[in-house]
Amino acid sequence: MDLDKEVLSGAVEFIEKYIQPREKEIEVEGLFVKDIFKELGYHGFIAIPFPKEYGGLGLSFRLFVDVSRLIAKHSGTISGVIGAHLLSAFSILIGGTEEQKQKYLTKLIKGELIGSLALTEPNAGSDPSSIETEAKKEGDYYILNGTKAFTTNAGLSDIYVIMAKTDRERGARGMSAFIVESTDENFKIGRQESKMALPGLPNASLFLNDVKLYRDRVVGKEGTGFAIVMKTLDIGRVTTGVGALGLSERALEEAVKYSKKRIQFGKPISSFEMIQSYIADMATEIEASKLLVMNAAEKKDQNDPKFSLYASMAKYYASKVAVDVSRLAVQIFGGYGWIEDYIVARLYKEAKMYEIIEGTNEIQKLIISNYILKEVK
Ligand SMILES: Cc1cc2nc3c(=O)[nH]c(=O)nc-3n(C[C@H](O)[C@H](O)[C@H](O)COP(=O)(O)OP(=O)(O)OC[C@H]3O[C@@H](n4cnc5c(N)ncnc54)[C@H](O)[C@@H]3O)c2cc1C
Repeated sequence: MDLDKEVLSGAVEFIEKYIQPREKEIEVEGLFVKDIFKELGYHGFIAIPFPKEYGGLGLSFRLFVDVSRLIAKHSGTISGVIGAHLLSAFSILIGGTEEQKQKYLTKLIKGELIGSLALTEPNAGSDPSSIETEAKKEGDYYILNGTKAFTTNAGLSDIYVIMAKTDRERGARGMSAFIVESTDENFKIGRQESKMALPGLPNASLFLNDVKLYRDRVVGKEGTGFAIVMKTLDIGRVTTGVGALGLSERALEEAVKYSKKRIQFGKPISSFEMIQSYIADMATEIEASKLLVMNAAEKKDQNDPKFSLYASMAKYYASKVAVDVSRLAVQIFGGYGWIEDYIVARLYKEAKMYEIIEGTNEIQKLIISNYILKEVK
């Protein structure tokens, strides 16, 4: 068995042992997932795409995405926690100093620390250049003030990579990334948001009120924050795409099983051509979104200069498909699809999140069309 196959079969065993038996607890009751996350780290699943020199397995991002797909099929919550955690780890890998990689990244990779990335603010979502959080330099220290909104893993995380303006006059170059530890003085987490779905996925505001950080907490160099976060978000768009893909695959599987069992007019509903047409549409859209997501992961492995374009296409399409496919799954379940006891009602609500996070789908379309408009003369 080659190594990739071994990792994938290990992931299947992990899901059967740790996730499947607790799926309802996690997804419906919203219970804490820290223990499962720690196990994932301990078993090396977070380490898959990271370099060996920092304790990673040095395997492909494509393999990591394949493992994430299996996890997302059973738990949108755990998939979301991993996705947000990865943003903090990749931002330090991309822009951090060697000391920061040794101090934080090595532990994030093993799941010994949990991380978040905080860019969005109450008045700055799609337009990150308008963030108001400020870091004022005072000697060897920075004083941070501001509020971050919607931060995933807030409350669960040990470290937060936070974007702040260090020079308001310098535009994108005036933004820096800082590592804030959960125990830092004057750093507070707001109440957990009550959301449409995924009650176990932590989401809250962060409040920085004169948080004093030594200069070694700037990720890499002052002024590089915007470049770091943009590169990190490209990666996050693939993990968002794969979350949506896993959800779509689950919705199809559940709908097909149901359609074979449900009898109307004396026959299973799967024998009706209109239901078959839905199944054909769902399966085809899923296959297309799988190809786009896996293609984007391979482009990352190949350091393709157009990775950003493929990542946006994957996120945009896979999330749109998740909404479409879960809607059709609800339709196939008929009235039972509307009942919370049946999984497809939950998947339909969860699917919507993927069209919003990591840059809304409107923003993905802007990125894609910008590339195409420049390319085609
Ligand atoms: C569950 C969840 C988890 C999240 N986790 C994190 C996290 O961990 N870290 C983090 O930093 N953020 C996080 N976010 C925030 C998320 O990235 C933002 O919600 C998203 O980028 C959109 O920003 P906004 O909500 O302010 O919407 P807005 O930017 O106000 O957009 C509102 C609407 O206007 C549209 N719009 C805006 N500008 C344009 C334009 N130029 N052209 C066309 N349409 C436009 C949008 O597409 C959208 O439809 C999370 C959000 C959610 C819901």
